[in-house]
Amino acid sequence: MSSCVFIDLSGTLHVGRQPLPGAIEAVERLRNAGYRVRFVSNTSSKSRRRLLGALQKIGFDIAYDELFTAPLVVHRYLQHHRLRPFLLVHPDLVEEFTDLPQNDPDAVVVGCALEHFTYANLNRAFRLLKQGARLIATGRTACFEGKNGLQLDAGPFVAALEYAADTEALVLGKPSAGFFETAMEEFSCPGERITMIGDDAASDVGGAMAAGMRGILVQTGKYRPGDEDKIGQPGAIVVPDMAAAVERILRKE
Ligand SMILES: [Mg+2]
Repeated sequence: MSSCVFIDLSGTLHVGRQPLPGAIEAVERLRNAGYRVRFVSNTSSKSRRRLLGALQKIGFDIAYDELFTAPLVVHRYLQHHRLRPFLLVHPDLVEEFTDLPQNDPDAVVVGCALEHFTYANLNRAFRLLKQGARLIATGRTACFEGKNGLQLDAGPFVAALEYAADTEALVLGKPSAGFFETAMEEFSCPGERITMIGDDAASDVGGAMAAGMRGILVQTGKYRPGDEDKIGQPGAIVVPDMAAAVERILRKE
């Protein structure tokens, strides 16, 4: 069985609509060397289809089935537990859940809904939680760098609902064990044969290493000096960028 490389998207392969220097070629090098490459992301403000289109447009050769996202893990969870979701998500994401029953919801799914975090939507979610619905989130990220500065992500809204309904969210994106375990299952690759590359020390590298994978932290994107201390696992590799990460993998270091 060939080894697998899991790669984060934003901050590792690209920033906004700009591929990071050498990233496109680095992915190609891995493929040419026979590695199975998969792209793992917490992104929930875009559907997988749109996310794929955006990546292809800036030059990445990626197939739909190689893209693995937090909303996909949420979908699997809902399906497995036969839950009927109320979707507090961006309208773009709704298409990923249309095959699930949504009448009489017994779960509230929170993703990065942006301006769709309205009072009415949040209050509907709150009332459902008070009636016993399960709170499920794609992530707990506080904010992200948008085109006009910092923007609120899903995390603060998850926290608000937890506080109001006195409940605790099940978070299914990175760095949760559920995310990495579902990805390993999906791609039939055991942890010891997977290397995860990402720019988030805790979420990408720490989470992957806790799940038994090898972790490489790249010093691009959201990386800041000292982030190494947030990995929380011994033995992580730290390199300047994606090209250097691939170099380390190909040299089998
Ligand atoms: Mg990232």
